[in-house]
Amino acid sequence: MTRGKPVAGSGTRLVGAGRSGDFADRVVNPPVWRASTHLYPDCAALREGPKSNEDGRFFYGRRGAPTQWALAEALTELEPGAAGTVLYPSGLAAIVAALLTVVKNGDVLLVADNAYDPTRNTAMDLLKRGGVECRFFDPLDHAAYEAAFCERTRAVMLENPGSLTMEVCDIPALARIARANGAVSLIDNTWATSLGFAALEHGCDIAITALTKHVGGHSDLMMGAASAGERWYRRLRQTAQQLGHVVSPDDAALALRGLRTMGLRLERTAATALRIAEWLQARDEVLAVLCPMLPGTPGHEVWRRDFTGGCGLLSFVLKDRGDAARCRLIDSLGLFGIGYSWGGFESLALPFDVPPVRKVMAWPRPEWGVGEALGIRLSIGLEDAGDLIADLDRAFAAMNEG
Ligand SMILES: *Cc1c(COP(=O)(O)O)cnc(C)c1O
Repeated sequence: MTRGKPVAGSGTRLVGAGRSGDFADRVVNPPVWRASTHLYPDCAALREGPKSNEDGRFFYGRRGAPTQWALAEALTELEPGAAGTVLYPSGLAAIVAALLTVVKNGDVLLVADNAYDPTRNTAMDLLKRGGVECRFFDPLDHAAYEAAFCERTRAVMLENPGSLTMEVCDIPALARIARANGAVSLIDNTWATSLGFAALEHGCDIAITALTKHVGGHSDLMMGAASAGERWYRRLRQTAQQLGHVVSPDDAALALRGLRTMGLRLERTAATALRIAEWLQARDEVLAVLCPMLPGTPGHEVWRRDFTGGCGLLSFVLKDRGDAARCRLIDSLGLFGIGYSWGGFESLALPFDVPPVRKVMAWPRPEWGVGEALGIRLSIGLEDAGDLIADLDRAFAAMNEG
């Protein structure tokens, strides 16, 4: 397609993203190019190949082929401020590779204390072995955050909202403070995606998404992406090449297929999640509902200010119940699968306990005045809201009978 694209809403952008390449003008979707070897017409062309480190140039399979380039291009078009996007074999691989791009031996890395647990593990083990010192901070406490910077602070790892506990933080303020201290800010933006939160426009340098979740959307693929402006995009690419990261063209085609309907799925699952959050909030058995879209969640006003959408992932905390009751509730659900991951078309429930490794963010929250807070995370799928609420209602009854 060579026709110009007018400025458009997110649905229109999702339909058109990544479809301007040279390889798919006669069919709607790019073919699945399975390729390790790219052939050259002659030796002169072969010698030119490695000189170009650009996407969209054939060289060797590890640098991808048109299927992967179309996906990367689509994600770049959807991320305001991005010069390019690098794909990774998982969301975690994207986080680790982006961190390795930014930090080096002797640097200090600040990590939000409510970040995804595997991110924390990598920071505390792999990066530590590489001589990087990791310090955790409370992203809601700006004074303590600002005080945590030192000469050696090189980067800040953010996530919004926080994993499991869903606090929304003021990313523009945190990114501004990082920049003023000469540090690079990276954000795990998996919850909102670029549709719901334009991370680079809000001051971050590198925006990371686990495509496994909303982009894939069908619980059938693992992939990650990092998008950035010109400076960091070049270096992200270089690190990915040095690490040998590549994604399969079959998975890239699945991700592209998922991407086209992502806006619809996010809208629908966010609306259902909000209805469920309101329903949960009215239950006696529930101590707190943790859902950025629901007034009362820490940072809800910031969510309203900065986000253009939500999604179906929320958590809640049981009041005065033990683990046996929690498991009884979850095991009694008929429409929710029990499993990790989220963002699929099907609903999931997961018991969670906030890792005791959290260092600076108190849990349970002091204002609750309780000693223990047992959590349940729900990933809301495309089922009808009324059916999911009826299912939850039955499960609460089963818990109370037990
Ligand atoms: C799942 C998840 C990841 C990791 O993605 P994978 O593809 O499973 O490696 C990263 N960040 C967040 C917030 C996630 O929920």
